[in-house]
Amino acid sequence: MKPLTDEILFISDLHLSSARPATTDRFVRFIKGRASTAGCLYILGDLFDAYLGDDDLAAPNDRVRHALGQLTAGGTRVAFQPGNRDFLLGSAFARATGVSLLDDYHTVEAYGQRVLLMHGDLLCTDDVQYQAARCRVRTPAWREYALGKPLWLRRLHARWYRLKSRLDQRGKSGAIMDVNLDTVETTLQTHAVSILIHGHTHRPGLNQPVASPARTRRIVLPEWDGQEQVLCWTAEGFRMTALAVESPP
Ligand code: MN
Repeated sequence: MKPLTDEILFISDLHLSSARPATTDRFVRFIKGRASTAGCLYILGDLFDAYLGDDDLAAPNDRVRHALGQLTAGGTRVAFQPGNRDFLLGSAFARATGVSLLDDYHTVEAYGQRVLLMHGDLLCTDDVQYQAARCRVRTPAWREYALGKPLWLRRLHARWYRLKSRLDQRGKSGAIMDVNLDTVETTLQTHAVSILIHGHTHRPGLNQPVASPARTRRIVLPEWDGQEQVLCWTAEGFRMTALAVESPP
């Protein structure tokens, strides 16, 4: 086993799906390459563009499971926080891959700092319609109801939901789909941290707007659009690095 670095890596919003196999190829290259030497990898949600349950082993789920299983077997600790697209990912996936599942709010301490990790959708409180829908589907009862349906029916529902979601978003301004800075501020206070890392908004940056820039910092992860970067945390601080172009897996 090769020695691991003390790097902590963060990714989110890969939106892996059978419709975009090239992104899955890049993810597998990342897992076999850069991630395999890191001590720890955090995946902050929307790894999958749609996730219908741990019993769905169709592409790209099969390759993703296999790659993550190899990564954790190599000693890299991997943690997954659910996104709005893949919150049905559950304990069977975790057992099969060795990945640990995180709550919607997770604090991590390293290098003398405490950081809050979130997918990011909970911060978009201006989108009242979305938050109401989120409340409805994020209960144990809804989860049981949804996962109790046969997979073919879940696939049908997912297609309808994607269409509805596209239609819903058409009428919304960009601002409404970004974070609410007051919500960011109160969330940081509640969790007694000054640094927040999240994804979801697809507006990446190491210093995205916050209500009180002198005291707090918000780092937003990029989506995987072909120019993706990975956030790397070491004793020197945070930096975004482009994924090296390597040979195909
Ligand atoms: Mn999202």
